Amino acid sequence: MNPAPASTPTDSFASLPLPPATLHNLQRLGYHTMTPIQAASLPLALAGHDLIAQAKTGSGKTAAFGLALLANLNPRRFAVQSLVLCPTRELADQVTQELRRLARAEDHIKILTLCGGATMRPQLASLEHGAHIVVGTPGRILDHLERGSLDLQALNTLVLDEADRMLDMGFHDDIAVVAKQCPAQRQTLLFSATYPEGIAKLSAAFMRQPKEVKLLQAHAAAKIRQRFYEVREEQRLHAVALLLNHYRPVSTLAFCNTKQRCRELVQVLRGMGFAALELHGDLEQRDRDQVLVQFAGQSISVLVATDIAARGLDIAELEAVINVDITPDADTHTHRIGRTARADASGWAFSLASMDEMGRVGQIEQALGFSSEWHKLEELTDSGNEPLRAPMRTLQILGGRKEKIRPGDVLGALTKDLGYPGATIGKINVNEFSTYVAVQRALADEVLKRLSTAKVKGRSVRLRLLPG
Ligand code: ADP
Ligand code: MG
Repeated sequence: MNPAPASTPTDSFASLPLPPATLHNLQRLGYHTMTPIQAASLPLALAGHDLIAQAKTGSGKTAAFGLALLANLNPRRFAVQSLVLCPTRELADQVTQELRRLARAEDHIKILTLCGGATMRPQLASLEHGAHIVVGTPGRILDHLERGSLDLQALNTLVLDEADRMLDMGFHDDIAVVAKQCPAQRQTLLFSATYPEGIAKLSAAFMRQPKEVKLLQAHAAAKIRQRFYEVREEQRLHAVALLLNHYRPVSTLAFCNTKQRCRELVQVLRGMGFAALELHGDLEQRDRDQVLVQFAGQSISVLVATDIAARGLDIAELEAVINVDITPDADTHTHRIGRTARADASGWAFSLASMDEMGRVGQIEQALGFSSEWHKLEELTDSGNEPLRAPMRTLQILGGRKEKIRPGDVLGALTKDLGYPGATIGKINVNEFSTYVAVQRALADEVLKRLSTAKVKGRSVRLRLLPG
């Protein structure tokens, strides 16, 4: 890891009008300097302006609006003062977690997540207890407004997060109705990874002289090594396997233009023994969570997805992105390859192009200002190694937050009680009803057996090994 770059006056949080407790908390979080989108948007947002901010996924947009809405918040006033609209429950959960971290400096700020797919009754009960900040999906928020269970009279900040994706998902009208129920005197902050036409319309309807801040993947391009391969149609799916066996990335996100192609690719890869899963829109939320947990836990090597299914995903360690086919849209290409090479890491972006796709490649080159580096499939050798395997496997423990299980309980059971070295245990993820723990592949069967007769948090647990 590189040492943190020295702060300059403009990218230091201390240059902002934030209370000392907040600055101290940011230090504790390890946020030593602002990310570019934070540096561009926070001075405007803290000055009270409405804001349209565009920057790629993973650029720190949550803290950009989070610090602004917290600055508007009066913790002693027990009423909903901020509302954050997000496209999916997953993203709402991520935002809630980040807001909790940011709000830690203040005592007793209550944040409530309200999303569809969850039962109403607990949400109604939580709302009766009150909250300062509500994070949720447009449909469910609207539901609560209609029932009268959510009151927005005291609202001072409305945030539309991932606005482009909410539009894609058809939430325009729901957002319009929700915005109408917010007091006219308020600050509206709109965040988006891309800037499709609909955004201008949306902002014209709900925002007051918004300032615009746009950052186009400024820093990412340099660290991403892009390679293009020309393929014939019948070689395309097999070429993905060649890339995997040659470069041997631990985690790869493979993008296809259509669901059909995703399905075909997963079949081919699984048939060849790769741990590959498809992430598609029709998955139940629980199955989607499970796929993502397995991928983040390095228990599957390849996640295959369309652009829509992968929007908003933030995966920290992604070694490679493969464009199984070329997207007709240059911005989409940028977002695809921007998924790799996060933070200080570097990453690979491979693109497979048939003759028919050369025009698209040309458009991408022109739009992004680079010239593509072409390689031949024949260069790809599988170096006579074992087939590529995911290093870990994921165990699912039936029992989660509802049973008050914490990651430390599981780690303790595995390391203290059963004596496994910490290094053999990977990501631990506690959801509402399930806990997932990644363990080294070679140990997986043994851990399964031993843990099923051991105790977690003083209780025996039921568990299973997820296929992978
Ligand atoms: P986006 O919403 O733009 O996709 P997020 O807000 O989810 O991005 O942030 C991505 C990651 O960067 C998160 O893990 C967050 O904790 C981290 N992060 C945000 N701001 C900073 C900062 N100033 N310094 C270090 N890490 C940060
Ligand atoms: Mg975000």
